[in-house]
Amino acid sequence: MPIRLLPDSLVNQIAAGEVVSRPAAVVKELVENSLDAKGSRIQVVTEAGGSRLVKVTDDGAGMPASELKLALTRHATSKIGSLTDLDQIRSMGFRGEALPSIAAVARLRLSSRTQDAGIATQIDVDNGRMGELRPAQGAPGTLVEVRDLFFAIPARRKFLKSERTENGQIEEILRAIALAQPSVGLTWVRDGHRVFELEPMEGDPAHRIGSVLGSSFVGSALTLDATASGLRLHGWVGLPTASRGQADRQFFFVNGRPVRDRVVAHAVRQAFADVLFHGRHPAFVLYLEIDPGEVDVNVHPAKSEVRFRQSRAVHDFLFRSLHGALAETRPRPPQATLAQDMPSAGSGVEGGQAQLPWSREFAVGAASSGRVAELRSPWGGLYQMDPDTPAAPLGPARDPFRPGLRHLRPDPGTAHAHSPTLGYALGQLHGIYILAENARGLVLVDMHAAHERVTFEAMKSQRDAGSIPTQQLLMPRRIDVSAAEADAAERFAESNLSVGIELTRTGPGEVSVHAISALLATGDLERLVRDLLGELSQESGDPHWLLRQQDAMLANVACRAAMHAHRTLTLPEMNALLRDMERTDRADQCNHGRPTWVQLGIDDLDRFFLRGR
Ligand code: ADP
Ligand code: MG
Repeated sequence: MPIRLLPDSLVNQIAAGEVVSRPAAVVKELVENSLDAKGSRIQVVTEAGGSRLVKVTDDGAGMPASELKLALTRHATSKIGSLTDLDQIRSMGFRGEALPSIAAVARLRLSSRTQDAGIATQIDVDNGRMGELRPAQGAPGTLVEVRDLFFAIPARRKFLKSERTENGQIEEILRAIALAQPSVGLTWVRDGHRVFELEPMEGDPAHRIGSVLGSSFVGSALTLDATASGLRLHGWVGLPTASRGQADRQFFFVNGRPVRDRVVAHAVRQAFADVLFHGRHPAFVLYLEIDPGEVDVNVHPAKSEVRFRQSRAVHDFLFRSLHGALAETRPRPPQATLAQDMPSAGSGVEGGQAQLPWSREFAVGAASSGRVAELRSPWGGLYQMDPDTPAAPLGPARDPFRPGLRHLRPDPGTAHAHSPTLGYALGQLHGIYILAENARGLVLVDMHAAHERVTFEAMKSQRDAGSIPTQQLLMPRRIDVSAAEADAAERFAESNLSVGIELTRTGPGEVSVHAISALLATGDLERLVRDLLGELSQESGDPHWLLRQQDAMLANVACRAAMHAHRTLTLPEMNALLRDMERTDRADQCNHGRPTWVQLGIDDLDRFFLRGR
């Protein structure tokens, strides 16, 4: 074939491959145009995942009749006029290719009216063929209607995913825009149902953040506002406890533009490294304001990537600001935690325990169901505490014969003879490990790993015996979720799958948990449900997927429900876990194959101290 210039229509179709990869990209381009036109209310209407219809209406500046055809022509833009402008971009668009690209692969209607024109003007384009200008009805502003995306291009249509997936993508885009531009009202009507209607926010953007991500996000987030050498970073950072199983709550805006960027991602990951578990993802909504001359937004056709001219400086600024903010969230020292967080005791027994784990002289031993607690001394003697004596602050209990303590088994030699494999808990180390004393010496238990395994095995055997029994909650627990997660909840509810949680969808963005297995009740219910739905909403809709996933889901639920680090346990709770471990199959390893406990014998300890040599 000889070389020839491609016709415009084909050029536009090729460009459309990059700019309008799917319906959500159409939504993004059109809404960004409305933002550039300074619309204060933008309405988005979609049908059939956006492939049948995407309609965006705004009340912005509008276009005069004489410019409509130009707007649909390739490389025509009102936003830049020179190379200098390209270095100082403040608008969302500037490439002048969205409208012609979309018009090349769909049926597009553009109708616009400037603020001072008496009437709107309208034009239709059918797969690149432009019609004639016509007067039309319409308020000042612009309306763009895109019908039957890719209908003439079967190769592209094939790549469209299920409606649910496409809707999920649209939701993601709209959510990012809603967060980026709190002062703009945004409405989404999907298949005739209003998914959300966000009013323009005058004052505190926290309100908008709350309506988009759920008020629980703002409630469990730190606010941040840092400025240095021309850069400003502000927004919300979810506390480590509000972290997610997926990186699906990470919003970063550079001068109001949603951006994915490696420099940013790296700085954020580093800042969270010492406060977040491996495998957990932080949640954040962050706005970076930077001189437009310092950032190149023209590196990606969909403008979702940027390049910082001084990426090192930006990286360091982000890291320092975030790290500084997060430093305030570290767990309090154990002493303080114990003093403040222990359940207050009626009997004085627990009050004593609150101090004992950290005293070298004594540790509270086997849990008792009643009001009597047993104390075990380091040399193996077992004592029982009598709750009927006045509450005695045990403190560093140097005298085992003080009032309130009754010597039970004075013989140190026999004390260990019947002691359980994992012994009795002495205390917690850094909120992560349980220290216990057994016949051989010291036992160290990874509390999360152990609890996870115990929970998983218990759920599996219940499931194998029929179904996992759940307990009805007195009050259903409502949880704010995204529309995609609520969809997932609906499918999950229909599937009748037994994973220890019963929930239903109770609103466009709300689910309610009605019942839960006692095994899962120790964890953070909200987080558990969010993680479960987050994961389910990723799936493209294979009806058997849930069933195939059941085991993996059980493991996951167990992991999420398991006690996480920095949770303060009472000694009875620790001992209960040790006893559960002894009863549980495969308890020596967690579900990820890591060990759950190790033994340090007295002989090992002696070697540390070169004793007996
Ligand atoms: P770009 O946004 O990169 O300039 P587009 O193809 O998206 O390119 O739009 C072309 C031009 O059409 C814009 O520069 C703008 O002048 C005009 N335009 C598009 N949408 C709107 C709108 N909603 N309101 C006013 N003008 C618009
Ligand atoms: Mg544009």
